[in-house]
This record gives sequence, structure tokens and C-alpha cells, in this order.
Amino acid sequence: MDLSQFKDPKLARGLIDSIGSLAPEQATLMEVCGTHTVAIARNGIRNLMPEGIRLASGPGCPVCVTSNRDIDTVIALARVENVTIATFGDMTRVPGSTSSLLKEQAAGRSIQIVYSPLDALNLAQDCPDREIVFVGVGFETTTPLVAMSIKRAKAMGLKNFSVFAAHKNMPGALETIVNDPELKVDALILPGHVSTIIGMEPYRFLAEKYGIAGVITGFEPVDVLQGIAMIMRQLHEGRAEIEIAYARGVMAEGNPTAMAAIDEVFETCPAIWRGLGEIPDSGYRIRPEYREFDAVLRFDPEIEPTQDPKGCRCGDVLRGIMAPNECPLFRKVCSPENPVGPCMVSSEGSCAAYYRYY
Ligand code: SF4
Repeated sequence: MDLSQFKDPKLARGLIDSIGSLAPEQATLMEVCGTHTVAIARNGIRNLMPEGIRLASGPGCPVCVTSNRDIDTVIALARVENVTIATFGDMTRVPGSTSSLLKEQAAGRSIQIVYSPLDALNLAQDCPDREIVFVGVGFETTTPLVAMSIKRAKAMGLKNFSVFAAHKNMPGALETIVNDPELKVDALILPGHVSTIIGMEPYRFLAEKYGIAGVITGFEPVDVLQGIAMIMRQLHEGRAEIEIAYARGVMAEGNPTAMAAIDEVFETCPAIWRGLGEIPDSGYRIRPEYREFDAVLRFDPEIEPTQDPKGCRCGDVLRGIMAPNECPLFRKVCSPENPVGPCMVSSEGSCAAYYRYY
């Protein structure tokens, strides 16, 4: 597909004008996807908003919302004899309470960077003498692939593959966000990738129960501006609905095959989110039928007492009540080279995006 039309300055100009003419005096829009956070920062979209319109970043970066307890659990798994941790690159630099996977690697633990759970499965086949533990973090975009890899491992009778499951689903977190007394969100810029899998139905309660407007959109500049323009139109007309501005990527019903794979292998459970605390039914754990692939059950690792990074305000950044550059450590102590918290580590983190583009 030719994406150049989604970067077209003329189209963008028209949308910016339309946003300007429809915008109310004041409104807070939250983008809840890390890729949107980066797209907004990279394209200077925050500065194009009319006065009174605030774009707040939310809890959409999977690495960032992973709790310190979960990071410490992965580190504890890395310390188990004969275990190799297979993980996405961002995770290796996230500081836990006293260590990180990168530090563990320097101390001689086996850490392998992979690009998908299927790479981890291949690693398990190639290294039958080692226990390969895949670190499963992220939202519904990655969860189906992890489910598929667990199903495949079971079908192959692979005994040295397991998963640390810390997946999360977005709608539960959004309910917590819209109930946050410290932040009044008027509308949500909803994630394109996640919605490709879950469709629009899981967001409908936001409009119906809370009167929050929401538009699912993509990641090119024109996509983001179109999503914002559609939100402005809803606010202007006093409507609150869930709409799709990303028809080339999202169908209202989502991807039933991917959802079925998630449902077969995982069940929902309470999950702890950095900044948001414990949210019922917002996590995925491996179902009893597949529990042999649950790394925590398999190894019962010794996890150290958890403490959050001192002075880091990632929790407030993820709730949208603080901009990254308002954190006292931003740029002074905390940078991508020396990250204090996960929001500065991840390529989708708000602090890293602010550091790079503001
Ligand atoms: Fe945490 Fe650094 Fe972001 Fe501050 S700037 S909230 S210390 S990651």
C-alpha cells in the first residue's frame, strides 16, 4: 500500500484547520498507545493543537507498564541454573529493584534477544540442553503470537520451552484512567494495532457508560490528525461514540482467529500496572491446560523484595498527570543512555519520545 498520502502536507493542513475550527475551549485527549506517543512527538503534533487542547500520553507502552515486581521476576528467572531468557531488546535495559537483564548478562547469565516468540521456540529446539524462557509482555498485538507458540510447543512435545506471561489488555486500564480523579480525560485516541485484534466492541463502554469519545486510528501523521479531527467533531456535536479512522487496518469485529488463540491458551486475571496499580481482569495468565509452559510454576524463582526506582515518576507519566519533562530527573539524571525508569528505556516510552523530539 502506498502510504505517502498519509503523510501528505496538504491533507494534514486541511485536518489541522478542521481541528482548529471544531475544537472546544478546553479538552484533554489521551493517546493510549506508545506508537501514537512517538508519532505525535516525531511529527510535532502536540504543538499544532489549538490553545486549550492538551494531548496527554497514557499507559500504552508495554514495557513501561510492566511492574517492577514482574521485572524482578524475570531477573529471578534469569538466575535459575540452566535458564536462558529470550526477550525483546527493550526489556533487557529496564531497571528492576536492584538489577536489569543487561546487568545479569554482564554477570554471566544467559540472555538472548529475539524478535518474536517463534524465535524463542526455535531457540528451544536448537538448544535442547537449556531451558528457554520467553518473556511475554505487551498487549493483544503480541499475545496471539505467544499463544500460538505455546500451542506449537505443546504439539511438538517441546519440554524446554516456557513463558513468563505478563500480558495485559487495554480496556481495563482505560476504565481506571477515565475514573482517575486527578485527570479529566474528555476523549481517547485509541490504538490501531491492538484494535486490529480486539476490534471496537471492547471500548464501547467508554462512550456508553462514561460519555468519553474515542477514535481508533493509525500511525502516519494524517492518520493521527484525522483521528483528532473526528474526536473534535464529536466534542463539537456533543456526541460520545467509538469510531474508526483506520479502516485500512481495523475491522469493527477485530480478528476473531487471533482472539480465539488468546482465549484457548490464556485466561484473564488481575494484573499490576506500573502507575495504575492492580486492575481486575486486565492481565492474561496461562490456562491450567497449558500450565506446563508457565515459567513461574515450572521454576518457582526466588524474587527479591520489590522497590521502585528512586525519584522516578513513570507512574505519574503513565497516568497522564505529568509530562515527562516535568519529572525532576528528566535530562538531568535520566536519559536514554542512563535510564532511571522504563519510560526512558523503551522506544515507545513517553520519556524517551520527549527526550528525542522536544
Ligand atoms: Fe522516570 Fe526518567 Fe521518565 Fe523521570 S524522566 S519519569 S526518572 S523514566
